[in-house]
Amino acid sequence: MQIPLKITNPEPLQDRLQRPLRELRISVIDRCNFRCTYCMPADSLNGRGIFLPLVKLLTDHEIEDLIKTFVELGVRKIRITGGEPLVRPGLPGLVERLAAIPELEDIALTTNGVMLPRLAEDLAQAGLGRITVSLDTLDETVLDHMSGGKAHLGQILDGIAAAESAGFRQLKINTVVQRGINDHTIMDLLEYFRGSVHKVRLIEFMDVGNCNHWNRSVVVPSAEWIEAINAKWPIRPVNKRSAAETAQRYEYADGQGEIGFISSISKPFCGGCTRARITADGLFYTCLFSSKGTNLMPLIRHGEDPAELRERIISVWEKRDDRYSEERGLPGHDQEKVEMYRMGG
Ligand code: SAM
Ligand code: SF4
Ligand code: SF4
Repeated sequence: MQIPLKITNPEPLQDRLQRPLRELRISVIDRCNFRCTYCMPADSLNGRGIFLPLVKLLTDHEIEDLIKTFVELGVRKIRITGGEPLVRPGLPGLVERLAAIPELEDIALTTNGVMLPRLAEDLAQAGLGRITVSLDTLDETVLDHMSGGKAHLGQILDGIAAAESAGFRQLKINTVVQRGINDHTIMDLLEYFRGSVHKVRLIEFMDVGNCNHWNRSVVVPSAEWIEAINAKWPIRPVNKRSAAETAQRYEYADGQGEIGFISSISKPFCGGCTRARITADGLFYTCLFSSKGTNLMPLIRHGEDPAELRERIISVWEKRDDRYSEERGLPGHDQEKVEMYRMGG
């Protein structure tokens, strides 16, 4: 099915809570070369082949067509994620296709960084706009534990350096914080990036999926960080650019850069959530904590009429009333959830 790009929807598509569809996170593969304990702990896999066979993945061409349809419906930002997106063969080719869609204002990638030395240059050439690298600590022992024995600090720092040399000037650094695991190393990490153009974002450990042994006592509320950082290096809030921003942004008062706090547990931000998610095999989700998705694959791979795909997306978004983080802990909200490495972070 070849989908010509035609913006046919003059009225913005909105969900039941009047949130437009603006951003799409696409998981391009569910596999990963790490086994982070908070995402894909090795003990949850039990050596089973739980990953999608490669033939089940959307092809580059199918992803391009699907994204064109989402663009028609209002999407302007894409984040490529996974699993580890750089593990997908030929990722620069996919980025090149997406970069050719003129209405897309932003194409970003989230990665654990270790394959950037091989790929950063090609991704830049292909038209990728921005990169977020995940790095939880500078302490080798803690990193080894958190990545399930897979990460080496030097490789991630080499990845960051490769992104810089390829021209990605300002990176975001995603840091998941867990009390008693890496919280004692956070100030060192902040100090390392202070004075650079890169922006560390401290992320509260979230109850995504079912296998990461989430426990509220392990979450460090962002307010604790704001107080501790402010005591060492005074910080002040930066105005939000849009209601859809996930991070509360702060800047160092001495001009040494910016940091962000993603507080899904202590300060949920569902009211401005304009994000949809697509898995590598074409399941469409309207919330990171969903348990059920809509399978678009039959319409993408075997559909004859592009309008059907568009109508299916519209009908799902118009029914959307997700606000899991605001309802967390209420009775009836303890459903089985899709794992984050499958849905896309
Ligand atoms: N593999 C890539 C990476 O790690 O950057 C992309 C996929 S990963 C699922 C996307 C982001 O989700 C990463 O920054 C990761 O740290 C974050 N993440 C994963 N599990 C999380 C959890 N339980 N709580 C908070 N953030 C989490
Ligand atoms: Fe892999 Fe990213 Fe999940 Fe870590 S957080 S296991 S790097 S997908
Ligand atoms: Fe959006 Fe769901 Fe997260 Fe709320 S919990 S911000 S609706 S993804």
